[in-house]
Amino acid sequence: MIPANSNTLTRIEIVQGNIVNQQVDAIVNAANTTLLGGGGVDGAIHRAAGPELLAECRSLGGCPTGEARITSGYRLPARHVIHTVGPVYRDGRHREPELLASAYRSSLALAEEYRCRTLAFPAISTGAYGYPKEEAARIATSAVAAWLEEHALPEKVTFVLFSAEDYNIYEKFVKKK
Ligand code: ADP
Repeated sequence: MIPANSNTLTRIEIVQGNIVNQQVDAIVNAANTTLLGGGGVDGAIHRAAGPELLAECRSLGGCPTGEARITSGYRLPARHVIHTVGPVYRDGRHREPELLASAYRSSLALAEEYRCRTLAFPAISTGAYGYPKEEAARIATSAVAAWLEEHALPEKVTFVLFSAEDYNIYEKFVKKK
């Protein structure tokens, strides 16, 4: 369970849906190290944002695993896209937990730097990158809760889960008081 006080809990929301439709200051993209687009949520974000997003991503020169980069959101409702790279899951003994937590923290730090009040995350690394869903949800929710305990921005973080299965997993970790 997340080590959160009641104020922190009210700043975390979970929804089932498509992240490209979120009306927030920034959405997070589960990108790869090239930042040149891919499948899954990355493909959906690039399709919805339009070709200008890829052009800006090309200028960034990639992003190491566990770090994040920020661009404009172009045709998205979101003003910014924060591109982060989660780890490819092998066996859990190749720094995957640390790198996944770092991907969340790096994204939160950029959101703070760009004064984003609202931020939406997908379930980073749990698709093509194969991270076990429960373990990834535990890391995601505890990294975000720990950040919110110590920072005023972002004011609110939404986890956007594509499937009902993922929503149910997150619900267990983000218990409503
Ligand atoms: P990764 O390569 O980091 O594993 P994926 O995009 O393959 O990234 O999957 C990450 C998660 O994003 C998966 O849970 C997948 O179901 C989910 N996902 C895919 N498309 C969307 C979308 N449009 N909005 C929100 N989540 C999505």
